[in-house]
Amino acid sequence: MSIISDSLKRIKPSPTIAVTQKARELRAAGKDVIGLGAGEPDFDTPDNVKNAAIKAIKSGDTKYTAVDGTPALKKAIIAKFKRENKLSYSTDQITVGTGGKQVLYNAFMATLNKGDEVIIPAPFWVSYPDMVLLAGGKPKIVKCTEQEGFKLTPSKLRKAITKKTKWLILNSPSNPTGAGYTKKEIEELAKVLVKNKKIHILSDDIYEHIKYDNFNFYTIAQNSKLKGRTLTMNGVSKSYAMTGWRIGYAAGPKDIIKAIGKIQSQSTSNPSSISQAAAVEALNGNQGFIQKRSKAFKERRDFVVKSLNNIKGIKCLTPNGAFYVFPSCKGLLNKKTKLKTDTDFVQKLLEKSNVAVVQGSAFGLDGYFRISYATSMQNLKKAMERIKTFCESLS
Ligand code: PLP
Repeated sequence: MSIISDSLKRIKPSPTIAVTQKARELRAAGKDVIGLGAGEPDFDTPDNVKNAAIKAIKSGDTKYTAVDGTPALKKAIIAKFKRENKLSYSTDQITVGTGGKQVLYNAFMATLNKGDEVIIPAPFWVSYPDMVLLAGGKPKIVKCTEQEGFKLTPSKLRKAITKKTKWLILNSPSNPTGAGYTKKEIEELAKVLVKNKKIHILSDDIYEHIKYDNFNFYTIAQNSKLKGRTLTMNGVSKSYAMTGWRIGYAAGPKDIIKAIGKIQSQSTSNPSSISQAAAVEALNGNQGFIQKRSKAFKERRDFVVKSLNNIKGIKCLTPNGAFYVFPSCKGLLNKKTKLKTDTDFVQKLLEKSNVAVVQGSAFGLDGYFRISYATSMQNLKKAMERIKTFCESLS
């Protein structure tokens, strides 16, 4: 009999982390691999944030804190929601965890019973279905096509709802497509949700600040009829280049927030006291650098989209947020190229041209691949040349 639990057998390791690890290994073995698989900004954490952490260490801010976040960080989070999203929350509606990932995991563990369904629009962030499975729930994957801008439509949402639906996950701007929902699109979905009163909404806003072309970020909790059943998750990882600090947070109904804290109290306790002090500075300090970095990301996005669309067999939409593009490689999957699937495509690309990307099927939509352009322009230029040469060599 296996020592491994049945619940663990339901899930697989994160495919995006696996690609990053594979690229790391190949590099260590002396190969000149360009990794476009990682979901983290290449920029460094801003100095004012680092200094706040140093100050916290020196002043002895090094002990356990309240399990679900320090009063100072909760205050900064409340102020952030007010300032940026015009949303009011009280302290007992806020929880802080070790990254957005832990907050989401705790939310599912705290709310799902066996067989409860969670609607997950695909392409999705790789961790959603596995987290749901681990918690005993049932992911209900709804495929959203390129023609739909990879976004959930009201009619597809309506069709996916059953008596067992507990959550709908929305992620805008999205990992892996970069697609952001407009206010109008969110309000159209809201009309369906207002009628289905039992459904809760989990809004993953982690890419809120990484957006382009005057895209106006709007989050579903801003709909007053839905705020009471929306859990809004956010964090400092992507916006403030703080992936290693591990601070994420959520705002929402008191009972869910309390339940998340209960799980945390019996698992990891508080997130790092030092990281929390740094996150206070990130949220309260000067926000100017966010725009500067978005500008750099935009230049890269424009370059990558243009380069990809110049390659025969590849087609790429121009997303309005995050730092990913999700091009189609369907034009290269045929008898002549001897490539059948997106996985064949990315494996051959890595093998022949030393460029690491992630297959679309890992995100729930076949025939595509994800490129993270959170790397230097120099790397991107080299990578685009290699992808072009590789694709041309196939025909
Ligand atoms: N949500 C999405 C869509 C993400 O892409 C990520 C990270 O890759 C997270 C949540 C979790 O971020 P973190 O745990 O670093 O806060």
